[in-house]
Amino acid sequence: MSLVDQALPYVRAISAYQPGKPITELAREMGIPVDSIVKLASNENPLGMSPKAKKAVLAAIDGVERYPDQFDLIKAVAAKAGVAPGQVVLGNGSNDVLDLAARVFLAPGRSAIFAQHAFAVYPLATLSTGAELIAVPAKNYGHDLAAMRAAIRPETRLIWIANPNNPTGNFLPYPEVRAFLESVPKDVVVVLDEAYNEYLPPADRVDTASWIVDFPNLIVCRTMSKIYGLAGLRIGYALASGEVADLMNRVRQPFNVNNLALAGALAALDDDEFLQASYELNQRGMAQIVAGLEKLGLEYIKPHGNFVTFKAGDAAAVNQKLLQQGVIVRPIGGYGLPEWLRVTIGSAPENARFIEALEKAL
Ligand SMILES: *Cc1c(COP(=O)(O)O)cnc(C)c1O
Repeated sequence: MSLVDQALPYVRAISAYQPGKPITELAREMGIPVDSIVKLASNENPLGMSPKAKKAVLAAIDGVERYPDQFDLIKAVAAKAGVAPGQVVLGNGSNDVLDLAARVFLAPGRSAIFAQHAFAVYPLATLSTGAELIAVPAKNYGHDLAAMRAAIRPETRLIWIANPNNPTGNFLPYPEVRAFLESVPKDVVVVLDEAYNEYLPPADRVDTASWIVDFPNLIVCRTMSKIYGLAGLRIGYALASGEVADLMNRVRQPFNVNNLALAGALAALDDDEFLQASYELNQRGMAQIVAGLEKLGLEYIKPHGNFVTFKAGDAAAVNQKLLQQGVIVRPIGGYGLPEWLRVTIGSAPENARFIEALEKAL
């Protein structure tokens, strides 16, 4: 008898998340120095973290003997989002709040809907509850909202929407998202994951938190891992109706966000100078990478986040040749895109190094 046989069948059926290859791992494998490697695989901020956040994190070291208190950050997030503190749920990364939403609304006998090529954590969060996952074919690599609406069944309780989506970079204009919310039954929760929201040009952004009044079934998720540059601290949050936030907070581990993350996030939250610099660097880098891909005659999906997804043909071989040159990008075969690679937009020298390495790899 193996204990594996005793595990829940729906847990045994889950395939593990494939993270971007760590720099240290490639350095060990290739026997090359860590600082010769360019990692553009996990949509991290090339500027690092806000200097204000760094200062706050260092100062918070004095105090780690105490359990964390979420009060100040919840208050600041609520004020920034224009919601009540009772509508905020903090997570150990936004993956954590995605999981909380699943745990509140999903179970065996229920189902959740997500789009083909959408973020891998949606299947993980869904399947780990024993709920069924309904995958709706993509339209031009993005969400097909009409088809997702049509896929709702009586037992469906949750719909995952990433806008912009990862790993494809597709963007749904917000009037379409709002029309979708109008069409969804009120007893089906819509999780709107906006991990890349701050990378959108201001004209494309919408204050979706203000929609919660009209749509109590809406959960908006944001992260501090991407433009805020705090991926390693693990901090994200959800905004929801007071009722839904309360339910999510009941299943949340009481101390899910650590002291350093709370302090760093609080300082980062309104470092507008850092956010603006990160946004502008990303816009320039996006143009640089897109120009490089066009010069090489490669197809790519119009980017809306801090990464570009392009068709590499034999992506596994191209990826291997990039790795040999010390450049880490992200293969996305696990997302049903075996011929594609996703490259994070880095600093100008990193982007140049990627384009140069790609040219050699092709
Ligand atoms: C990166 C990402 C997140 C954020 O994950 P964290 O747990 O906050 O680091 C959430 N959703 C999508 C679609 C992402 O790409």
